Amino acid sequence: MAEAVVTGAQGTRTAGTQRAPATGTLRGLGVSPGRAAGRVCRMAGPPRLPDPLPVADAAREAALAVRALEEVAADLAARAGRTSDAEAGAILEAQSFMAADSGLRETVEENVAAGMDAGHAVDAACDHHRRALLEAGGYFAERAADLDDIRNRAVAAVLGLPVPGIPDPGHPFVLVAEDLAPADTVNLDPATVLALVTEKGGPTSHTAILARSRGLPAVVACRGALEIGEGIWVSVDGTAGEVGTGLGEQDAEEILRRAADERSRLAASAGPGRTADGHGVELLLNIGSAADLGAGVDAEGVGLFRTEFLFLGRKDAPGFEEQVAAYEAVLRAVPGGKVVVRTLDAGTDKPLPFLELPEEPNPALGVRGLRVGRVRQDVLDVQLDAIAEAARASGVRPWVMAPMVTTVGEAADFAARARARGITRVGAMIEVPAAALRAGHLLRELDFLSIGTNDLSQYAFAADRQHGELADLLDPWQAGLLRLVAECARAGRAAGKPVGVCGEAAADPLLATVLTGLGVTSLSMSAPSLAPVRERLARTSLARCEANARIALDADDPAVAREAVAEETAAEHAA
Ligand code: PEP
Ligand code: MG
Repeated sequence: MAEAVVTGAQGTRTAGTQRAPATGTLRGLGVSPGRAAGRVCRMAGPPRLPDPLPVADAAREAALAVRALEEVAADLAARAGRTSDAEAGAILEAQSFMAADSGLRETVEENVAAGMDAGHAVDAACDHHRRALLEAGGYFAERAADLDDIRNRAVAAVLGLPVPGIPDPGHPFVLVAEDLAPADTVNLDPATVLALVTEKGGPTSHTAILARSRGLPAVVACRGALEIGEGIWVSVDGTAGEVGTGLGEQDAEEILRRAADERSRLAASAGPGRTADGHGVELLLNIGSAADLGAGVDAEGVGLFRTEFLFLGRKDAPGFEEQVAAYEAVLRAVPGGKVVVRTLDAGTDKPLPFLELPEEPNPALGVRGLRVGRVRQDVLDVQLDAIAEAARASGVRPWVMAPMVTTVGEAADFAARARARGITRVGAMIEVPAAALRAGHLLRELDFLSIGTNDLSQYAFAADRQHGELADLLDPWQAGLLRLVAECARAGRAAGKPVGVCGEAAADPLLATVLTGLGVTSLSMSAPSLAPVRERLARTSLARCEANARIALDADDPAVAREAVAEETAAEHAA
């Protein structure tokens, strides 16, 4: 739920009427699992501009503003160079390009020419470009926060104020902010920052992505969070999306102690995915490149290799050789394991300029994923060639699937193209309800299916997956979504072919028991979620998983489903 609800001794009420209670719970979206507790430290707000100043020397003023943007761009690039986190580095580099953008600089110069001082010229220029991003929607709209951060840094530089960023109170703390920019999150030191709570942000915001990659519990879209007083003790549950107030230092210590116990219990869990009575469910990793595999693979393989990261932010498509090298690196990094390569998933939230796709009024319903082949089949064919060559060179046979498959005809065409290149295991992502309803027919053409619950929710519930306010519709515990999963699993069983889940739903340990009960054969997730899911499954019997699936399919409300499944599962664990 995105809406903040306060539960305290007096029951439940919507935040906004009474916020940040002395004792109670604020609710947001849990986007990075784990529990923590500590004192709140709020991030300093953006620098405030003084009243406009008269401009005596426009050239000097313009130079001051442009220099501030250049300093910000250079600082962001330097941070990108210093971080060892490849994903964070790429995000910072993209933000540095934004700060150095000639269009932004020109707008600043025009503003100064129109009579504004340097600070106001930067502020107004950023606001202008920000509105353009918001109007573009989707992926672009989420980048508006990056531009806000550039504005704050550049205005601070113009005014000679310190760079806004992470506070340093001298003790571990729970960081509370309106939203976090990539530059902030890169500097987070997990030894001092215990958890993240933001008022804004959605499941795909930078706060969410980077918190997950650092294993920090995080709650976003938590209304009322900014009204929690500085230095107040809070607990953060990044799985349930809850922020508890009104606790004391001893309660916090107890929560941290339990969280540490839980971490060591999780660290001790190893081996393949199994229920308590030995029913196997493959546990796999979601990755964007070989770098995500780090030192080793604590999983049975890779369930989703999102190849589009190789294509993002580029003016030209990566060439055949470059693609072969990238795919081969991943295939070689998972010796003996399974690797599911997803072909290019472009469009909407993942725009690729070199495809030169025409503007669409409703891009989420437009030329996305496999549909790119309708206008640029050459790009997808080169990619299949490169995957086939990487397989030959590494001696590893990949599983290859296409995103956004909708009809049996599309599946048959993709399978024919892949098989013609010697690829033997060909599948499809199930992200469109029409495909889920025809899963059995798709499996006549394909060897496996992988359910992308992020997009399947978006399309089944007609709710933009990046829309924080609609997060309740996108809750993967919604019975409507689970019915579609059940239909795919049933078709897989009938065909004797694997059907996995690789959307975020697979990363919720309790929901993993439901998905297992529905009959999915694998669960694929980002690395920090593996141990909690493995450990939960290992304590739960297949019969309990199946009963959990029935509860979730019958529930009219996702929160009720979650609570009932949690209770019944805890009862089995206690028995
Ligand atoms: C999904 O849609 O669930 C999925 C895994 O694909 P992506 O998040 O990359 O769109
Ligand atoms: Mg998807």
